Amino acid sequence: MILYEKGRALYLNLTNRCPVSCGFCVKVPWDYRFEGNDLRLKGPEPTSAQLINALEAKLGAGGDWREVVFCGFGESTFRLDEMTKVGLYLKTHYPKVKRRLNTVGLGDLIWGRNIVPELARYLDEVAVSLNTADPKQWIELLRPAPAYRDAGFAASRAFAANCVKAGIRTRVTAVELPEVDLKPLELYAKSIGADFTARPILA
Ligand code: SF4
Repeated sequence: MILYEKGRALYLNLTNRCPVSCGFCVKVPWDYRFEGNDLRLKGPEPTSAQLINALEAKLGAGGDWREVVFCGFGESTFRLDEMTKVGLYLKTHYPKVKRRLNTVGLGDLIWGRNIVPELARYLDEVAVSLNTADPKQWIELLRPAPAYRDAGFAASRAFAANCVKAGIRTRVTAVELPEVDLKPLELYAKSIGADFTARPILA
């Protein structure tokens, strides 16, 4: 399933790949299912044309859709080119529908460059899942792949700060875990001009 609904939002499931393997992730325990939707991508990852067609089937039919969110069981920034095509299409054809990215904040490391200027062309909002203000704990919680282990913590924070500077409404997010003191993360979010949201662990 490449598109699913939640409230008044349409969610795009662009990939099942992740640069991290969060200890609190429900992807594998829930067998890639979320609220009745099967988010396991069995064939090739969706093309921008497939994503736009799926969106058109919903948005083109009317309905009170408020938001499109790049967020599936995977890190959407792996599909940056497709995101950009879809995001710009939405901005042109459905400007009243907001565009948001939910991310773990490692897109700059994935691409080896600052991707924020590209995202700022079409995103209204970004939610960056930082989860802790402690670099050692970040590794313990998110269990990054080797390529992201050393630089990932700093890169994800820089990504969030750059999103704020680029004028994208930015929300730092965290899962409420008993071993994490969220106050320093909330203060960090405020210090860079971002909002902060903690959410209960999914179970
Ligand atoms: S980034 Fe999301 S999908 Fe990926 S491992 Fe973490 S919680 Fe799971």
